[in-house]
Amino acid sequence: MPATQRMNLPTTLVMVLFHLGAVAALFLFSWSAFFAAVFLYWLCVGQGISMGYHRLLTHRSYKVPRLLEYLFAVCGALTLEGGPISWVATHRIHHQNSDQPGDPHSPRDGAWWAHVGWILYGETNHNNTRVMSKYAPDLARQPFYVWLNNYHWVPMLPLGLLLFAIGGLPMMLWGICLRVVVGLHATWLVNSATHMWGRRRFATRDDSRNNWWVALLTFGEGWHNNHHAHPTSARHGLAWYEFDPTWITIRLLRRLGIAKAVHAARVTSPLPGRETAASSRPAAIGLEPSAVGAGR
Ligand SMILES: [Zn+2]
Ligand SMILES: [Zn+2]
Repeated sequence: MPATQRMNLPTTLVMVLFHLGAVAALFLFSWSAFFAAVFLYWLCVGQGISMGYHRLLTHRSYKVPRLLEYLFAVCGALTLEGGPISWVATHRIHHQNSDQPGDPHSPRDGAWWAHVGWILYGETNHNNTRVMSKYAPDLARQPFYVWLNNYHWVPMLPLGLLLFAIGGLPMMLWGICLRVVVGLHATWLVNSATHMWGRRRFATRDDSRNNWWVALLTFGEGWHNNHHAHPTSARHGLAWYEFDPTWITIRLLRRLGIAKAVHAARVTSPLPGRETAASSRPAAIGLEPSAVGAGR
């Protein structure tokens, strides 16, 4: 849905600054800064976006205690991908209109558009809590999410100061700028690459694909064709060779009694070739038995 609007200047400026900071980080390498960035990448992209914004808040594929849910959401905000209400609303609209008119970021409107163009030129409603709340009323009922959506950039400030206090400029540039930029592109690849490149196990109405290298960068989010076929499944990697760290974490939380009501599609029977194999527990994910298998 490319808009003919002018460039969204404040967002573009922030993106340019973070990219410059990311390049600067490469000239200020230290192992402690590197490991801080890796840890924060796991925390913010893995726990914040994949566990939190996506599988928990958007699709409600499992439940955790409210406090942990809020913690995931704060980690999600630390990716600079926007507040939880805006992110969830945008993603629900994507599922509603995948690769059809109305999809905020479809490669049918151009690969660049799907990757980052929609952020720089798209509707500024992405930051409008009131408008986006229509698509995420469940979150908009909770004052914490409304606050976090309005001030999603605030948690970044104490984190930046903390990193600066611990490791000076190198740790701040690695832990904030470089880590945020890599996380943004990894997440954007789910919108661009996994709707263009990879294999399709399910004949979904969209162009979604399963892409192993995007899955590696995003803690399992690259198994995107599986996800479009079974959106409410907390498990995205459905075959043994589809590495899905977020699903491993959710399973661990379930074993510890922290995650409840986990919905999971399950591989139960081999299908022709390596590209078919998913069946599921219909009751668990609310699918009609006829919709289960390779036909969707
Ligand atoms: Zn998609
Ligand atoms: Zn989704």
